Amino acid sequence: MKTIGAHVSASGGVQNAPLNAKAIGADAFALFTKNQKQWAASPLTEETISAFKQNCAETFSAAQILPHDSYLINLGHPEDEGLGKSRQAFLDEMQRCEQLGLDRLNFHPGSHLKKCTEEECIATIAESINLALAKTSGVIAVIENTAGQGSNMGYRFEHLAEIIAQVEDKTRVGVCIDTCHTFTSGYDLRTETACKETFEKFEEIVGFNYLKGMHLNDSKKELATRVDRHHSLGEGFIGLDCFRFIMTDDRFNGMPLILETPDPTRWPDEIKLLRSFEAG
Ligand SMILES: [Zn+2]
Ligand SMILES: [Zn+2]
Repeated sequence: MKTIGAHVSASGGVQNAPLNAKAIGADAFALFTKNQKQWAASPLTEETISAFKQNCAETFSAAQILPHDSYLINLGHPEDEGLGKSRQAFLDEMQRCEQLGLDRLNFHPGSHLKKCTEEECIATIAESINLALAKTSGVIAVIENTAGQGSNMGYRFEHLAEIIAQVEDKTRVGVCIDTCHTFTSGYDLRTETACKETFEKFEEIVGFNYLKGMHLNDSKKELATRVDRHHSLGEGFIGLDCFRFIMTDDRFNGMPLILETPDPTRWPDEIKLLRSFEAG
């Protein structure tokens, strides 16, 4: 079975995210567990935690929720200060997930900022994950593939595989594949045949056993442009065949399938469209 939703607002408190997800007809959702543009966050209170759990009950289990970390965090930071700050903030995010009873945290791998090699950056990212896993339990670190904008790592499936190879506890590392990032990083998704080939490559290089969530976005930019600009489903350069492919392939069952498309007023219709593909 497919569970579908969107990255909904948690403004006013994380306990509002499941309510916002229900309101758009979702049975999955993504959220920030703190303000994603700030380093510091006040700790979650007992009331917030229990309200979140209560609002999720019966509708959303952990496997239907994909929290996303702050955009400020760079786990591959080439400098000590930036790296230390990022590792501390990432640990805090992992602990917030633990407190909320969530089992996965989605993050962008990191950037070398042109101050170290890609290999060094990957090793730093893997070490950052190892450090966070050692201090937490039950939460899987879910690495998202990227468009490869700027000096962002994660634009090749090989990057994800290499990070995983260097993570000690393989049971607590996973990946999230974003269709827009996949496409603009250079993997075609415009036809059924292209999707078959791209996901065959993914299976060979990373493996579906590591897939813990998907971001379903069309793209405002063309194939291999390495620019990250999401578009509403069917409006961009990817087109609907890709989403039809995903919705009829069992390998995407049992994980959060999350829209990060730019127009939230279209989310209810986009969810309905995806469900209609699933029904065939
Ligand atoms: Zn994404
Ligand atoms: Zn993106």
